[in-house]
Amino acid sequence: MSGFRLERQWRGWFVAGPDGTPVTGVYGSRDLALVRMGELQDLAESAGQRMRRACMCCGVSFQSAGIHNRLCPECRTGTPVERTPARSHHSPKAGSRA
Ligand SMILES: [Zn+2]
Repeated sequence: MSGFRLERQWRGWFVAGPDGTPVTGVYGSRDLALVRMGELQDLAESAGQRMRRACMCCGVSFQSAGIHNRLCPECRTGTPVERTPARSHHSPKAGSRA
């Protein structure tokens, strides 16, 4: 489901993207346009799969920016996935012997 669709024009057929703008030229044959649409869909789907990676650090699946990008945004920026609760820096030791 990449959102490509076949559009009719007075001269023939063309493939339109999700926003309705033509992404191919006009084909005289509907079959040719269909084949081209299939190619574009395959391309879009395989590109989408490539972009999806498991983080090397925590294993979470995330949207990768490219082959060099193997860490999820949280690991890359150093933000822990499980954030320490804010009240943990209120040390229980300090107040226990009053
Ligand atoms: Zn991670």
